[in-house]
Amino acid sequence: MRELTYVARRTVEWREAPDPELQGAGEAIVAPVAATPCDVDSAILAGHGFVEPPFALGHECVARVVETGDAVASVAPGDLVVVPWSINCGSCDRCRAGLTAHCEAVPHMAMYGAPIGGSWGGLFSELVRVPYADAMLVPLPTGLDPVAMASASDNWSLAWRLVAPHLKARPGARVLVVARGSIGLYVCDIARALGASDVLYVDPEPEHRELARVFGAATAETLEPLPQGFDIAVEATGRVAQLALAVKSLAPEGICESAGNHFRPGELPLLDMYLTGVTLRIARDNVRAHIPDALALAASGKVSPKAVVSHVIDWEDLPTALPEKHLKPVFVRADA
Ligand SMILES: [Zn+2]
Ligand SMILES: [Zn+2]
Repeated sequence: MRELTYVARRTVEWREAPDPELQGAGEAIVAPVAATPCDVDSAILAGHGFVEPPFALGHECVARVVETGDAVASVAPGDLVVVPWSINCGSCDRCRAGLTAHCEAVPHMAMYGAPIGGSWGGLFSELVRVPYADAMLVPLPTGLDPVAMASASDNWSLAWRLVAPHLKARPGARVLVVARGSIGLYVCDIARALGASDVLYVDPEPEHRELARVFGAATAETLEPLPQGFDIAVEATGRVAQLALAVKSLAPEGICESAGNHFRPGELPLLDMYLTGVTLRIARDNVRAHIPDALALAASGKVSPKAVVSHVIDWEDLPTALPEKHLKPVFVRADA
């Protein structure tokens, strides 16, 4: 099979690899049908990653199940499924506690699309081995479009987790979103749908701000701290200085969620945070635990994740189109 391989800054190419095979009765082989770059893939493609190439890229897709082991009960060949970005067994203590990004059955950081916890391939490959099929795969609800939901593996479901539980605890909260890519726009959509009273989206990219306004957010190109301005802040820029502005804009006992991936160090205003009473969470997302909730919100019709999809592109064009700067291109395979 071919796997799309990140080889150098702004360069990906098809490389031949052996077809993956079932290695146990609980495994599945799937074929991605709609795959999209995570926001962090854009940073990797720009040369800001911390893993040396070459490696198979991609950790967001909806796939079709091709083959299942004898013990797999929840999915069958032909089913459309969401493949979570991280590898998790579903039965260790951490998985049962919902900490699926910290599964004890696999190496630390085991994931698709970056060889930092073993090599599991990428979701821009033609075939993918899923080692714990019943624990990992989530059937795509009938009626949901694989193109719109390709990001449920990570960014869409992450966006749900960054804001939905906090809005439930603080109905009508004011939400600040400081972002650069799809995650922040998904957050705007979800925050409005779940009753945020005000949403301010901050991003220097005009095209992103325009979309945020479609989702009912006010927008700004840059942010001066707005002390006591917001109950919830979401930062998804990978820049510590932007995270600092977000926490400085919180109301007393406000919550800041950060999507992380700050590859460079920086300083946070800890004294301000102390005086305000800030809860800051910065965490790799235990995505498998809340993919079903994020899909349910998408199926409710209250949100429009497909509006964030900037381009629908043929799978064969991946090597040329992926390195281009697009907000959220989705690559589709006609033959899967
Ligand atoms: Zn990701
Ligand atoms: Zn586990």
